[in-house]
Amino acid sequence: MVSAPSVAIIGAGLAGLTCGAALKGLGPHVKVFEKSIFPGGRLNHFRAGDYEFNHGAQYFTVSNPLFQNIVSAWQSDNIVRLWDGWIVELQKGQISNSDMTTQRFVGHPHMQIITEKLAENCDVQYSSNICEMEKQSDGGWRLFNERGDYLGAYDVVILATAAHETAILCNQSPKIKQLAEAVEMTVCWSGMFAFENKLDIPYDAAYVLDSPLSWISRYQMFEPKTEADCWVLHASPEWSQQYVASFRGRVMHALLDAFWEAADIEAQKPMSTSVHCWKHAAPINPIDEDSLFVTEDSIGACGDWCTSPRVEGAVLSGFSMADRVMKHLRQCG
Ligand SMILES: Cc1cc2nc3c(=O)[nH]c(=O)nc-3n(C[C@H](O)[C@H](O)[C@H](O)COP(=O)(O)OP(=O)(O)OC[C@H]3O[C@@H](n4cnc5c(N)ncnc54)[C@H](O)[C@@H]3O)c2cc1C
Repeated sequence: MVSAPSVAIIGAGLAGLTCGAALKGLGPHVKVFEKSIFPGGRLNHFRAGDYEFNHGAQYFTVSNPLFQNIVSAWQSDNIVRLWDGWIVELQKGQISNSDMTTQRFVGHPHMQIITEKLAENCDVQYSSNICEMEKQSDGGWRLFNERGDYLGAYDVVILATAAHETAILCNQSPKIKQLAEAVEMTVCWSGMFAFENKLDIPYDAAYVLDSPLSWISRYQMFEPKTEADCWVLHASPEWSQQYVASFRGRVMHALLDAFWEAADIEAQKPMSTSVHCWKHAAPINPIDEDSLFVTEDSIGACGDWCTSPRVEGAVLSGFSMADRVMKHLRQCG
């Protein structure tokens, strides 16, 4: 009996898990490797004791009909909801209404739930930082983690990592390496602050202009264990780049100062503070391909850096990748 072909997907972010879940039941044995201890990548949710924050992607929009169908299914599963928050534009304390016609969706109870649900349909091995891929002379790839442990041989490998990570891993497939290397990514400092009492801020989120910040958002906890008011502050790409190597404490104070100035309210002492630097937050120049596949090397790549720097882009890239894998496997007979 001929055994089913094997596919390794590196990265359990949205693109990798979309690809893995789409391949389920279609024939190949699929294994997903994730360096972190949970799925999500840039969709991650952050907990600090009783406080919660979406500190990566904040919401998503839909423009593609395929993605619209997927989002409708997520809504039926009650893991995604329309966000009806009041979103404004802020300029030095001046509020103006932002575009309220755009439909914005959020994961329920948090953004990461989308990847948690997708991961239920995939065989994911966590804490597996793939550091080396060895091309076999008879086709296929051997994978190794950072300790040099052998993690198996696979007929096809899919890199569902951010562009810079793909470029590092792809030494033996120059075409993908070259394309991934050319993609530049923005930096984003994200601050997560919990306040004991509700701040005197009437809106739920704001795009911030003329400030070190670009975005602020109140996090609505689904089943709050406290009365705390939790806010996520995103610094602008320019400011984040300038402060990329700064100490966390310095960044934390700078973000808070910018918050009080932008919201034009009196400073309060937070009960909980955390900052995180997304050193590779969003691709500036995606390559404008749904996904990549090099038939002679049996290797592919997908992610938002192929399509568009958004949740929608990552999902569509993952679907396109699954399609290409199946076409390749059918051709291989
Ligand atoms: C601060 C911030 C705000 C954002 N805001 C929005 C928004 O409001 N709306 C929107 O639509 N989008 C937003 N985005 C973008 C959105 O989050 C991304 O487009 C999307 O999540 C990318 O998914 P991905 O699967 O392509 O990549 P990733 O989420 O980066 O997934 C890659 C995965 O690969 C894993 N990995 C990497 N290297 C290895 C390795 N060697 N071995 C094993 N695993 C590995 C990583 O741990 C990660 O889990 C935001 C992103 C950030 C950072």
